[in-house]
Amino acid sequence: MKLLLQTDPPTMTAWLHDVVRLYYPGWKIEVEDSGQAEGRMRIVRSQSKGKVEVALTVEDRNGTIRERIMLEAGDEKNSEDVEKEVRRQIRLITYRLLARHTGKEGNPYGILTGVRPTKLVQRWLDEDLPTEQVETRLENQYAIRRDKAKLLTEIALRERPYLMDNDAASRYLSVYVGIPFCPSRCHYCSFLGATVTDYSRQVTPFMEALGREVEVFGQVTKDLGFKVQSIYVGGGTPTVLACNDLEVLLEWLNRYFVSAATREITVEAGRPDTLTAEKLRLLREAGVTRISINPQTMNDATLRAIGRSHSVEEVVRAFELARHEGLRQINMDLIVGLPGEGMKEYTNTADRILQLKPENVTVHVLAVKRGSVLAETERGVGAREQIEQVERGIEMFRNRLTGTGYEPYYLYRQRYMAANMENLGYSLPGCYCLYNILMIEERQTILGLGAGTASKFVNPGSWTLTSLYSPKNPLSYVESLSRLIRNKVDKLGALT
Ligand code: SF4
Repeated sequence: MKLLLQTDPPTMTAWLHDVVRLYYPGWKIEVEDSGQAEGRMRIVRSQSKGKVEVALTVEDRNGTIRERIMLEAGDEKNSEDVEKEVRRQIRLITYRLLARHTGKEGNPYGILTGVRPTKLVQRWLDEDLPTEQVETRLENQYAIRRDKAKLLTEIALRERPYLMDNDAASRYLSVYVGIPFCPSRCHYCSFLGATVTDYSRQVTPFMEALGREVEVFGQVTKDLGFKVQSIYVGGGTPTVLACNDLEVLLEWLNRYFVSAATREITVEAGRPDTLTAEKLRLLREAGVTRISINPQTMNDATLRAIGRSHSVEEVVRAFELARHEGLRQINMDLIVGLPGEGMKEYTNTADRILQLKPENVTVHVLAVKRGSVLAETERGVGAREQIEQVERGIEMFRNRLTGTGYEPYYLYRQRYMAANMENLGYSLPGCYCLYNILMIEERQTILGLGAGTASKFVNPGSWTLTSLYSPKNPLSYVESLSRLIRNKVDKLGALT
C-alpha cells in the first residue's frame, strides 16, 4: 500500500514523516505522485496576520477529512524556539487528526518518537516543574499515554541524583571501548563487526590500534584536566578476547583512565560460551565492578532458533561461576518478541532469571534491524496478535521484576521495534549502572575508543552535543585510526 504525503513547504515532510507512519504501518510513504497511491495526505503551512495557519487533508479508504487550524506560538523567546514550538504543534495536530480519521489507537509515546524520551523530562525538571505538571504536559503537548508519562517521570526522577551539574560535566567524562568481535552471529543482530575465525589475523592488528588510541587519549584527557567517571567495555562480545589480550586491555584502562574519581567499570560478557573461570577472575582482579551476561531468553529451543550457540545451562553455569569468582554486580539482557515465544516462554524466562537474582535486568523489545538474518527472512515482523503478545510479555516482566524489588532506572526506544514499546533497564536499589544513565541522558561527554563507537562531546553550558562515530568493521577502524584520533582530540579540546 502507498500513501502520498505532500507538504507545503516540502521541508515539513522530513519532520512529519514519522508521525504519519504511526498510522500507516507497513505502507510505503511517497512524496512524488506515482499515480498508484491508495491514500493521500496534504499539509499546508501558511503565515497570516503574524499567525501560523495549517490546513490538512487526508483521503483514503476511510473517506476524506479536512481541518484548518490557527496556531499560537506561545511565549518562546527566540526564533529557533518559536519554530520548534510550531513544529511540535503541527506534529500534534497531524497525530490527532489521523487518530480520529483512522479510528486507531495511537502510539503510547504519542509524537515523542525519539530514542531518548526522558531527556525532555529532565529539561522540565531542570526548570523545577512539579512532577504532576510534567506528566500533564507529556499528555497534553505530546499525546503520551498516562502510564507512559508516569513511567518517564518516575525514571527521570530516579536518574537525577546521578546527573552532573554544568560545572562537574566540564571536568568529568566517561569512556566507552568498542570490541567489534563475536564468537558467531546471532540471527536478530545487525552487528557489522567480525565473527572471529582467524584470531591472530583479525584481533592482533585491532588490539595494536586500540592500544595506540588508549595511550593517546590517556595523555590528552590528563592534559585537558578530565577525570574518567565510568568505563564501559562493550561490543560485540569483549570476552571473546583471549585472556592475555583481555588482561592487556584492562591494564591499559587502569593505567591511563582509572583514578579515585572512577566509580564503575563494566565489561559486557554477553555470550556465556566465551566465559571461563580464568577470564572472570581476571576481570575482578582488574577492578571490573559490573559485567553483563546476556541470555536473551531462558528457552533452549529459542536459543537454537536465533543462532546463539549456547544453552540455558551454560548461562546458569556462567552466572554461578561469575558469582564464585567474586563479581557482585551482574546484568542480564532479555528480549521480548523473539520468534516462537509467547507468554509460556516469557514466564519461564522470568522464573529462571529471578532464581539467579542478578542486580540488573534489561528487558529489550525485539527490534528487527536491516541487515539481520531475521529481517531477511521477515520472521520478526509482527501481526497485531504478535504485537499484543509482546505488550503482554513486557507487562508480565514489569510486574514480576517490580514485584521482587527491581526499579526501572533507564529507558530508551528504537526504530524497528516489535510493538511501540521501550527497552527498560531494571535494577535492585543502589545498583544502577551509572554509564547507562549518563549515556541515555547525554549530560556528560562519552569518549568512544575502538570500533563501532559513538563519541558524544557534550557542551555543559547548553547540553548540546556533537557526535563522532568510528567504523564498525575492525579493519576499517585500523585504517582510519589517525583521522579518528585527530578528530576526537579536536572535539575534546574544543570543550575546554
Ligand atoms: S547479539 Fe551480541 S553476541 Fe550476538 S552477534 Fe550481536 S553483538 Fe554478537
